[in-house]
Amino acid sequence: MSSPVLFLMSTGPDGTTAFAPADPSAPHLRVDDLGATRGDGIFESVNVVGGVAQSLRHHLDRFARSAAMVDLPAPDATAWAVALKQAVAAHDPVPELLVKLIMTRGVEGSGVPTGWVHAFVAADHTRERVEGIDVLALERAYPSDVMTRAPWLLQGAKTLSYALNMAALRHARARGAHDVVFLASDGEVLEGPNSTVVAVFGDRWVTTPPELGILEGTTQGRAFDFAQQRGDRTEIGHLGLADLHSADALWLVSSGRLSAPVRSVDGTPRPVDVVLSAELLQHLLTVHD
Ligand code: PLP
Repeated sequence: MSSPVLFLMSTGPDGTTAFAPADPSAPHLRVDDLGATRGDGIFESVNVVGGVAQSLRHHLDRFARSAAMVDLPAPDATAWAVALKQAVAAHDPVPELLVKLIMTRGVEGSGVPTGWVHAFVAADHTRERVEGIDVLALERAYPSDVMTRAPWLLQGAKTLSYALNMAALRHARARGAHDVVFLASDGEVLEGPNSTVVAVFGDRWVTTPPELGILEGTTQGRAFDFAQQRGDRTEIGHLGLADLHSADALWLVSSGRLSAPVRSVDGTPRPVDVVLSAELLQHLLTVHD
């Protein structure tokens, strides 16, 4: 098992961002850091395949959007990118690595964010990628116009407040499922707790609109690149629960697990396109940005 790599980010008095290596097995976070006491911060999880970070520019753009949505200072994209690349270079070479970029609001009262870059080998997702997953459709209980009605709910920002997402996953797992697709109160399909929904109907690939208060997924973007390379059509469109059952192919896609074909929804089996799923996974594993 190779060791994780940690770099601590720091902001100087002139606003410049620097970073330094630190021992990932030693404590670094203060007990009054708002990331820990209030889950107040943002993050990105970047998949690294063969030493190359995938969709790095999209991750950094989303990191900046999340920072703006929660009124954190704009992260210095260059410094974070260099830190990520150096963390990858410092790690033992492995086929796949996950790198988390994390920025919290910092120690309470300091006004200075806490940040770190953590590169580590994530859980092995082979089984979900290949055999597929059983999902439950669960209410998120927000209307699909939540972003405009209640922007303080921070839908669409990748914040550290994932306790609700993890609770939904536990709820599903306690009922024998692997994952969740959230539905808005008006029935619109939203996203998974840590993934994006991609459905295929014939030669039409559909994912749900970020305006519904979901995270704009980087992996979904690469899945759509694959669809377009095949000559298929891609669409940001609206889906309902019936579409999850009727789609010719359905995946939950995300940076770490990449693509997991959905083989049942609410206990009802649905077809898995084994060949297309394998091709999509291969694309996500080999295409680099
Ligand atoms: N939606 C949510 C809520 C997520 O947490 C994630 C990723 O963690 C995604 C979608 C998928 O985003 P990406 O493909 O960029 O990992």
